[in-house]
This record gives sequence, C-alpha cells and structure tokens, in this order.
Amino acid sequence: MNNTVEKDKVVSLDYTLKLDDGRVIDSSEGKEPLQYLHGHGTLIPGLEKELTGMEVGQEKSVVVSPADGYGEIVDADDIVLSVNDFPPDLTPIAGMGVYLESPTGQVKPFFITKVEGDRVYMNENHPLAGQTLHFDVQVVGVRDATPEEIAHGHTH
Ligand code: ZN
Repeated sequence: MNNTVEKDKVVSLDYTLKLDDGRVIDSSEGKEPLQYLHGHGTLIPGLEKELTGMEVGQEKSVVVSPADGYGEIVDADDIVLSVNDFPPDLTPIAGMGVYLESPTGQVKPFFITKVEGDRVYMNENHPLAGQTLHFDVQVVGVRDATPEEIAHGHTH
C-alpha cells in the first residue's frame, strides 16, 4: 500500500487557510476533510505542488504567492449586469463566481463584487486575488483513484 500523495491518488486533507494578517478564512476544522483527486488541477497550483510526496499523517505549513494562488489583481473595469440576467433560482451575491461567454465564444470566470438594487457588478479578480495564502495542512488519507474517477477528473 502506497500512502504517498502523487498523481491519480485520492487525498483526504485537513487544512486551515489564513491570510497575511492571520485571519482564518477557510478551514476543514469541525467538518469532513477535503477530498480531491491529486494531479488534476483541482487545488491551486502552489498548494498541489507542495502536497506532492507527502505521506499520510504528515503536516506542513505552505505559503502560496498570489501567482501560484488566485492570481495577481488585474486592473479591469467592472461589468454590470441586471439581476434579471441571472436564472430565477440563482440569487447573485458578492463573492460568487460566474462564467460569462464573450462575443467570441470564450468562457471566462468573473466574480461578483457587489449587488446594488437590481445591478450586479463583477470583474475578473477572484476574491482572493493578490493575497498571499498561508495553509496549514495535514494529509489524513491517501488511496488509489478508480479508473472512472481518473477519467472524470474528480472523486466519487
Ligand atoms: Zn464523475
């Protein structure tokens, strides 16, 4: 049994994510560990790279620069849509990610910055763009992925 984190393994991870100021913005504490398929771009690149080669039970603190995280902040004007442009079962709120198709057919992620009345403002910056990310991680499980999981690129 190989308990090392590598491509095509399903990894269970306990983690805490902090910003430079020490604020905890995400954590698996009190929840199920995060489960993901390693080597398929599920996690941000800077974190996946550092997890490669870790063993079950091992802990690590990982600092991820914006470039290896959610990107640098790009100076882009907000796009404004109407609340009515969204499906009726979807209530737009700040921080939510949406995929928009450009006139050339290119699909890009946008993130809602604010909602005022029926106007929804969004731009290309992920809410964590420009942030240095501080992860405390512990690998709590590693197993072989099934051929189906590998083909789909996610865990079942
Ligand atoms: Zn699937």
